[in-house]
Amino acid sequence: MKRMIWVAMCLMGVGTASAEPLSQQRVLKDVQVLASDEFEGRGVATRAEDKTVAYIVEGFKTAGFLPGAKDSAGKPSYYQDVALRRFRVSSPELKFTLPDGKTVPVVQGENMTVATRGATADVTLNAPLVFVGYGVTAAERGWDDFKGVDVKGKIIVVLINDPDFVEPDLKTFNGKAMTYYGRWTYKYEEAARRGALGAIIIHDTDAAAYGWATVKNSNTRDRFDIVRPDPLKVNPVLESWIQADTAEALFTAAGLDLKALRVQALSKTFKPVELKGVTLSGTYKVAADEIHTRNVVAVLPGKTKPDEYVLYSAHWDHLGIGNPDATGDKIFNGAFDNATGVAGILELARAFAKAPRTDRSIVMISFTAEESGLLGSEYYASNPLFPLDKTVGGVNIDGLNIAGPTRNIELTGYGQSTLEDMLAETLKTQKRVVTPDQRAEAGLFYRSDHFPMAKRGVPMLFGAWGLDMVDGGLEAGKKFSEAYIRDHYHQPSDEYEPSWNMTGGLQDLEAYYALGRKLATAKVWPEWKPGSEFKAERDKSAMTRK
Ligand SMILES: [Zn+2]
Repeated sequence: MKRMIWVAMCLMGVGTASAEPLSQQRVLKDVQVLASDEFEGRGVATRAEDKTVAYIVEGFKTAGFLPGAKDSAGKPSYYQDVALRRFRVSSPELKFTLPDGKTVPVVQGENMTVATRGATADVTLNAPLVFVGYGVTAAERGWDDFKGVDVKGKIIVVLINDPDFVEPDLKTFNGKAMTYYGRWTYKYEEAARRGALGAIIIHDTDAAAYGWATVKNSNTRDRFDIVRPDPLKVNPVLESWIQADTAEALFTAAGLDLKALRVQALSKTFKPVELKGVTLSGTYKVAADEIHTRNVVAVLPGKTKPDEYVLYSAHWDHLGIGNPDATGDKIFNGAFDNATGVAGILELARAFAKAPRTDRSIVMISFTAEESGLLGSEYYASNPLFPLDKTVGGVNIDGLNIAGPTRNIELTGYGQSTLEDMLAETLKTQKRVVTPDQRAEAGLFYRSDHFPMAKRGVPMLFGAWGLDMVDGGLEAGKKFSEAYIRDHYHQPSDEYEPSWNMTGGLQDLEAYYALGRKLATAKVWPEWKPGSEFKAERDKSAMTRK
């Protein structure tokens, strides 16, 4: 019967439909296993990693996908070995000294976080503080917060996000949407470029797009980076966040008004301001070592064009075991983030393997160390197993809709590539639409694994779940999403709940499947649209796709 339906659909020209329907039960089963306490929050380079990657490999293998990598002996393998440097900060004993001689002790994770991906040995510091506004140097936007002020050996204090977040009318940093200048990674990189000893980011729940609990959980555990010959060239000795009220007290003690300075920071004429008489001093231990982790890579070779590739990705890692929450739970299960995504690509693999073979190859990658700064995908993008200029395009999944059916899929980085037009086309059969990201200010486009690929020119889609719920509209969707971010995002309570409604998530998966089949059978090469920051990079290799 199923076969007859398939044939009928092909005759009707709906050749993109699935031969086997995607199964919510199978997706949920994978989510429950990957997010179970037994998998210990899927921390990178822990025993939970072995369990996790083995489970994913088994899934791809059973589906009929082949190994996409080679081991050191040259034998086919599902694993791409990724070397990372791990930084573990312990026993921080730091204090702020105020102009009147009083001190404010730093309490790790409470009023401040102390981390590094720059220092590889124990740190002793005693440094003055300079407020640098948003800490942005963007010549192409005519913006420079530093104005030639030397911050070498000092600690910069900086605001999160970019000026347009507060003042969209500035129209200098793409309005409400967060640019890369707004990301914490940029703030630290800019500090290191200028020889600053460290950067302290003033936390703000709205501007950061997450609360202090998330900051604490992400910054008081092991930090990772790719293995760099000289890490201090890229990351400073001190990478820190501070609670807004603690920061405000420091500014007041220095005779400064943080509120007024926040306003000044919205202007091109802003100049750095020293916190006169305030220093940060003390010590913390740093243990840095090299660890090995794995991307899982699987491929289903294409029929007629096996050397052209359609890519799906979903990171397998989460935060592992960390600080207990109020209930004493210390396993960060990462059920939504990103057991759902991994379960999603496993189900897509099963569908592709059962359906008539596509012309182009289908590549599935479950990246490692996404939560540590997109490191697995950065590594892959620098060491691709399939040529990037022949990677047609792809979809990255980081969290599937668990809220219920929606009328839309939201695209982060909307307006970037023709992939979104193709997705809109496939969504028509579901009577749904593509809409711009409601939360563009959260800078999500820079926050998942499609970004390292996009930077190298590969057209990638990053679909977020649509907020326009069939039941309750935009209001209900926003409410659900905000509650999730507040109560579960990067917290031990991101656990599988029987109350989840995956109907919408399944629809999204079906759309990604249909899009992938289209990409894998057509001769089409999706492109970045004029004005996209990624277009120039792709255009460089245009000749290879003629
Ligand atoms: Zn994620």
